[in-house]
Amino acid sequence: MLAQRISLLSGSGTAAAREAAQEAAAAGRQIIDLAAGEVITEPPSSVREGAIAAIKAGTNRYTDSIGLSPLRAAVAEKLSAETGVGWNTEDIAITAGAKQGLLDAALAVLDPGDEVIIIRPCWPTFPSQVVLAGARPVFVDACPPTYIPDIGTIRAAVAPRTKAIIVNSPNNPTGAVYDRTILQAIGDLAINYKLWIISDECYSSFVFTGSRHESIVMAHPGVRSRTILVNAFSKELAITGWRLGYFAAPREIISAAKKLQTHTTSNANVIAQHAILHHLRVADGRFERQLHQRLSAARNAGLRILAGLQGVSPPAADGTFFFYLDLSRLVSALPAGFPIRSTDDIARLLLNEAGVGSVAGSTFGDVNGLRLSFGAPPDLLESGLKRVVETLTSLKTRTAAA
Ligand code: PLP
Repeated sequence: MLAQRISLLSGSGTAAAREAAQEAAAAGRQIIDLAAGEVITEPPSSVREGAIAAIKAGTNRYTDSIGLSPLRAAVAEKLSAETGVGWNTEDIAITAGAKQGLLDAALAVLDPGDEVIIIRPCWPTFPSQVVLAGARPVFVDACPPTYIPDIGTIRAAVAPRTKAIIVNSPNNPTGAVYDRTILQAIGDLAINYKLWIISDECYSSFVFTGSRHESIVMAHPGVRSRTILVNAFSKELAITGWRLGYFAAPREIISAAKKLQTHTTSNANVIAQHAILHHLRVADGRFERQLHQRLSAARNAGLRILAGLQGVSPPAADGTFFFYLDLSRLVSALPAGFPIRSTDDIARLLLNEAGVGSVAGSTFGDVNGLRLSFGAPPDLLESGLKRVVETLTSLKTRTAAA
């Protein structure tokens, strides 16, 4: 008999979508995978060289549980340059991806019965980790077309047991990038109600409209003492499988993570730590610029194709590498008794008929959405999106014939 907590965890909808696409491909079908939460490209040569050098040097020992001190220092320097807020080595913990940083944060600040405000649609790991920590997720819906939450609705969700709010900008899945106004309002609210802010900024390098990504600690410097700023190299350097992330936080949280990681993973993989340290020392930012350019071009090309959709507003895709379609009008126009009733059915149809992997919004707590990644290789992206447009357009003819 398994522990109760396992039944409280949702499966990973994004992983399930990826596995469905892989199964179909393994069965010999030509599948274009627009479900993956990663950019399909090779990692920078500096990262690979750093890993090879560490292996050749025979590197094999445990590190401090929160990472090599020079790496923590290099991350502090990077984060200081990016945010304009000064960070020191002691403010940084190295983690096995952002996921571990987020779990550390949840385990460090939440007691059983606490509540955590999560803005929905949301990446499904947020509520699952809150549940793992024995606390309760309280959802606040952010609505299309902007998917920027309303501060009044967030305030209405605050209750005596509210301990934290999770902010994820640029946002997975919606691609929303929170501006200074909403970040400052969330910051004020956190100060007024003494809440922790867990700020997941994993997609900070991928903003395509307006100005650069703004961290909540830049928008509202007053929240620094109550913010756990989580980030990772996973997406920025296209090394999701290497498992290297970090967070910046008040010292008490760093000490808590040191204990937590000692008793869980010991330390993030030592070779990956050396690889990133080498990258941070020698790289000139060219890889990051080229990746941004590629994604920006993919976004523009994709938006041109998606403009062909009828009854579906073009997605904003201000940040991340996801197009998030609001299919509410399309779904509500489907007649009763028609076999396709939901965005889950649409995702299945796209996979089975069009050979395109996508992620239905139900994965993110939103019955109306559909997420398509533009991190796929550009030629595949183009044909994949064309098939999506054709398939969604064909629904109209099919319902008329039904
Ligand atoms: N946070 C968000 C919002 C994500 O979308 C993901 C991965 O998809 C992660 C964190 C996990 O990042 P990592 O692979 O660095 O653990």
